[in-house]
Amino acid sequence: MGEIALYPGTFDPVTLGHIDIVKRARKIFSSLVVAVAENPQKSPLFSVEERMELIRTATADIDGITVTWFNDLTARFARSINATVIIRGLRAVSDFEFEFQMALMNRKIEPLVETVFLMPNEKYSYLSSSLVKDIARRGGDISCFVPEVVGAGLKAKFGA
Ligand code: ADP
Repeated sequence: MGEIALYPGTFDPVTLGHIDIVKRARKIFSSLVVAVAENPQKSPLFSVEERMELIRTATADIDGITVTWFNDLTARFARSINATVIIRGLRAVSDFEFEFQMALMNRKIEPLVETVFLMPNEKYSYLSSSLVKDIARRGGDISCFVPEVVGAGLKAKFGA
């Protein structure tokens, strides 16, 4: 489809679960904007620039991807870049309630923007950026959960 889709998230850092969603979204939409939410209230480990650079490197072999950042309301930001679709990943039922609430709120803010939910490969359904950070912080092996460049970035942060 010719529409522009927006995949917003904190991506602190990007995981193979996120990349799986990026690939699925690109099968449906020809142009995908991956946008890092600044989210200072979440005290991210990686800066906005670092998170963007990790996504850029991890998606370098996928065409039709633009990486950017935002600190606006997600739905409003979607409109500002002419995106008609917001992509969100659903890992499990536990994600549903919050995502459902947010999708309806976003629809209220921008009625012309639809949220589309995509499910990752089940092998990534238990994967989250916070779990990956916890494991890396304690010196555990996270290589099967994140792109190589993110593994290196986590090593640099935690000095492992
Ligand atoms: P946010 O703070 O916006 O939830 P995240 O970076 O945690 O940011 O996630 C961004 C989006 O990617 C969310 O829709 C989330 O549900 C989804 N996501 C996160 N981890 C995974 C995963 N392992 N598989 C599929 N989707 C995921």
